[in-house]
Amino acid sequence: MSIHLLRDHLYALDGQGYKAYKSLRGRHDFPEFTLHIDYVQGDPFAAPSRLRVEIPQAIAQFPAHLYATTPRRIALEDYLIRQFDRQTRTRSRSAGSGKSGLIEIVPPSQAILPRSAAQVSDQRVELRFVAGLPAFGRRIAGRQAADLLCDQLPVLVRQSLYWSQLDGADVEAHGVCAENAEALRGQLRDRQLVAFVADGAMLPRQSGVDERPLRTGAVPFQSPDSLRVTLLLPDGQGVAGMGLPAGVTLIVGGGYHGKSTLLKAIEAGIYNHIPGDGRERVVTDRAAMKVRAEDGRSVAGVNISPFINHLPQGRSTQHFSTQAASGSTSQAASIIEAVEAGAAALLIDEDTSATNFMIRDRRMQALIAKDREPITPFVDKVRQLRDDYGISTILVMGGSGDYFDVADTVIALDDYRPQDVTQQAKAIAATYQTERQAEGGTTFGTFSPRILSPDSIDASKGKRAVSLKSRATDEIRLGTQEIDLSAVEQLVESGQVKAIAAALVYAQDCYVDGQRSLAAVLDAVAADVETHGLDCLSDRLTGEFVSFRPLELAAALNRLRTLKILPEP
Ligand code: ADP
Ligand code: MG
Repeated sequence: MSIHLLRDHLYALDGQGYKAYKSLRGRHDFPEFTLHIDYVQGDPFAAPSRLRVEIPQAIAQFPAHLYATTPRRIALEDYLIRQFDRQTRTRSRSAGSGKSGLIEIVPPSQAILPRSAAQVSDQRVELRFVAGLPAFGRRIAGRQAADLLCDQLPVLVRQSLYWSQLDGADVEAHGVCAENAEALRGQLRDRQLVAFVADGAMLPRQSGVDERPLRTGAVPFQSPDSLRVTLLLPDGQGVAGMGLPAGVTLIVGGGYHGKSTLLKAIEAGIYNHIPGDGRERVVTDRAAMKVRAEDGRSVAGVNISPFINHLPQGRSTQHFSTQAASGSTSQAASIIEAVEAGAAALLIDEDTSATNFMIRDRRMQALIAKDREPITPFVDKVRQLRDDYGISTILVMGGSGDYFDVADTVIALDDYRPQDVTQQAKAIAATYQTERQAEGGTTFGTFSPRILSPDSIDASKGKRAVSLKSRATDEIRLGTQEIDLSAVEQLVESGQVKAIAAALVYAQDCYVDGQRSLAAVLDAVAADVETHGLDCLSDRLTGEFVSFRPLELAAALNRLRTLKILPEP
């Protein structure tokens, strides 16, 4: 329909039952853009209707350099979502029942991420969002609907998606910020670094539930001289900061001195951040994975024998399965699974680790003989992981000096200021021997590929073939199953969880065939998303998907309680 027909149509619908809105589905040609109404809600209280606008570049007029490279394009798309989000928040919503008058786009976090909500190309700008079609009670409010779609929406579109209406310098800065972070991250592997924290970075957050930067009293990051490296920005300018070398890095220091805050910033360094976040120049190897203890989680057929052996009742640790792992077995499984899914570095915090997984000191070795203790502590394995498989670890460990022997780098935080105490720690290790018995053997051990049973993933529920729900960043409901993601700490947006939920169903439909290994399934899904975009994960167009790593898809799969591993052929 043209905008005039649409307006007339909405007036005509006034007072009718809500279901009559279904006639809006389809394409509407406005003078300057196209509006697609892809889904019409069934009633004013239900999930809102899904809308999409397409503006030709001839109208939007974004300069090509703003989306010429992938990081820049993603940053521009991210900017447009934020701009639209800001604009929708400042407008006043008209009266009506339920979600009447709502216009909303998925709210972005501090990270700049590829999202299905915005797409920019040479031809056009596309934005996806939801709207609550207005009603009084369950009767269509036709005039309000006409006002919403034919008057307010074009204004919102113009304010958010026309180059001429935006603060050009701000848009440029957004793109440069993302491109800079990308360039810094791109230098890590050549310089054999796992992470980089620029001088001046602001790491602390407002609170445990608010990812925005702490405004008052934050101490800017300052690298110790011995660890300072200079990386280059695309414009040739150097950025100095702390380079964390590959290997085993220990972060020590007194309680409340900023250890976990530093590790959290490093965890988040897999993403680019918006200007003003404070972590714009904190970058981490994209394949760095936070792992933690998570007692109660399920584990399916994981070879945890590098860490755990001789469990009571002769339970297998080469194909370890349980519906309720302990702290130590869950952490062991999470490490093995992370490596299986491609992790290049592990990020571990003592705050969220199982003590008996991390350490076993001389006295305990004397009291409980090795053959009575199934666990080989991480301290005896962390170097082998590095030497045998090239996997680095960054570990926050204020509680045990036993790790001094196995660390390459030791950083002490003192009043939030990092110091390189590697030499002192080594000297102390030489003076005060732990007298521990190394329990890790000569090699790390082997990783066993796992083949998923095709009946592992079942999204059906009752009559519905696919029932998917997700909550925030910590839960997926797949059919009748709940997947708890609260311990998968590098997820930052609910849209990532939504995309992962869809990816599980997609993987099941396309690749879980009883032949491919779990790693191969992850690769196949990642390749499809790379080539076809997030839209390939679902047959309906949604603005809700946000990009995710294979590591997090694996984490979700591994926490699915119905996951079954086929016996090796
Ligand atoms: P630790 O893990 O060493 O016990 P945390 O990282 O949890 O310490 O930090 C303790 C508190 O200090 C937190 O409230 C955190 O926000 C704050 N904090 C951390 N780093 C800084 C900093 N650079 N400037 C100001 N406050 C900080
Ligand atoms: Mg801590």
